[in-house]
Amino acid sequence: MSKVLGILGGGQLGLMMIMESRKLGVKFLVHDEDPEAPALGVADGKFVGDSWRELIDKSDVVTFEFEHVNLNAVNLAESFGKLRPGSLTIWLKQDKIREKSFLRDHGFPVPRFMIVNSPEEVDKAVNQLGRVVFKEPQGAYDGKGQYYVMGEGDLGKVPRRFPLLAEEFVDIYKEVSVVLVRSSDGDVLTYPVTENYHYNGILLYSIAPAEVDEEVAGRVKEIAVRLADTLNHVGVLTVEFFVTRSGEVLINEFAPRVHNSGHWTLIGAAVSQFENHVRAVLDLPLGSTELQRPSGIVNMLGVPYNEEVIRRVLAVPGTSVWWYGKAKVRPRRKMGHVNIVANNVDELRKRTNEVLSIVYGNDIGRYVSPWNLT
Ligand code: ADP
Repeated sequence: MSKVLGILGGGQLGLMMIMESRKLGVKFLVHDEDPEAPALGVADGKFVGDSWRELIDKSDVVTFEFEHVNLNAVNLAESFGKLRPGSLTIWLKQDKIREKSFLRDHGFPVPRFMIVNSPEEVDKAVNQLGRVVFKEPQGAYDGKGQYYVMGEGDLGKVPRRFPLLAEEFVDIYKEVSVVLVRSSDGDVLTYPVTENYHYNGILLYSIAPAEVDEEVAGRVKEIAVRLADTLNHVGVLTVEFFVTRSGEVLINEFAPRVHNSGHWTLIGAAVSQFENHVRAVLDLPLGSTELQRPSGIVNMLGVPYNEEVIRRVLAVPGTSVWWYGKAKVRPRRKMGHVNIVANNVDELRKRTNEVLSIVYGNDIGRYVSPWNLT
C-alpha cells in the first residue's frame, strides 16, 4: 500500500514537494484554509477550511510546508505520533525572541540582541548596540516588521508596541544558507552552501555553490548540522547566516522545512530538497545532495503571468521555469521562480543577470516595493 503523507499548508513549497515526490508512489493530502492554494491543485486529497482533523486521520505521516500553520492541527498530529519534524521548531519559529534566545542559550553564534519592553529600553538598546534593527517578534516574514535605526533621526520609526527584538545591525559581507536533510536515525547530508541576494528584505536570487572560503563553508555547515542535532530534527532544515566582513559567521534564522534558497536543487542537485524531505519523513534512504553543475534561481516576485516573458526566459540556455499558479498577484508575492544551471559560476552569474533583466526590466522597485509602500 502506498504511504499517505499529509501536508499542512498548500503553498508553492507543498506544490513542489508533491510534484518532485509523486514518482516515489506516495499519496499526498493537503490542508489549507484557502481553497485556491497552489498545492491543493495537485493533491490526491484536498482539505480546506477547518477539515485538518480528517487529513490527520487519513495520513500515515503529517508534515508542514510553512511554520505558521494551525497549532491545533500540529498538536493533534503530534499526539498521534504522526508529526515530522516535531512541534519544537514550530514553537520556536512563532516568535523571533524565542528563536534567538534558544540559539544563544545553546551556544550558537547570533548577532548581539536585547529584548525591549518600553520606550526607555529602545533608547538603551541604541546606546548599547549602536546601529540597531528592531524586529517585531511575531507575524513578520520576508523582511516585514523590521525597523532600521542607523542614527538618532531614525528613532521615531520604531513602533511603540512591545516586546520588540533589538538586534545589532550587522555589517554583512555575504548572506549564505545551508540546506540539509536529517533522517530519524540522525544521518545528515548537507547541500553545498548557497549565496543569497535580497531586495527590500526579500530573497531575489541565489547562487550555488556560494563564493566563500572553504573554511567559512565548512564552518557554516558544521553549525547547521549541530543545530539539526540539537533540535533532533527530521526532514529538511535550512539555516540562514550572515558572513561579516571580519569573517565571522552568525545565524540569522532557521527554517524547519524546505526553503526558497534551496530551490536550485530542483535541477542542480542529484536529489532535490523536496524529494529528500519526503524521503526523510517517510523513513526512506536519503538521496545524494551533491551539486551537479553551478546552479541558481531567480524569484519572480509580484509579476503577473506573461507568456512573452516566459518565452524569453526559456530562451536563455540552462533555464527552466516554475510558475506556481497563484490566484492573485500582489507586490512582493512569490509568483514563480526560474532555475538556472551553467558550466561555471561566471556563466551562471551572467545568465542570472539576463533572467533578472527579462523578468523585471529596469523596474524592479515596482514589483518588489518596500513593505511600508505595499
Ligand atoms: P524575515 O524573517 O522577515 O525574513 P530576517 O530577520 O531574516 O527577516 O531579515 C531579512 C533580511 O533583513 C536579512 O536577510 C538581511 O538582509 C536583513 N537583516 C536582518 N537582520 C539584520 C541585521 N541584524 N543586520 C543587518 N541586516 C539584517
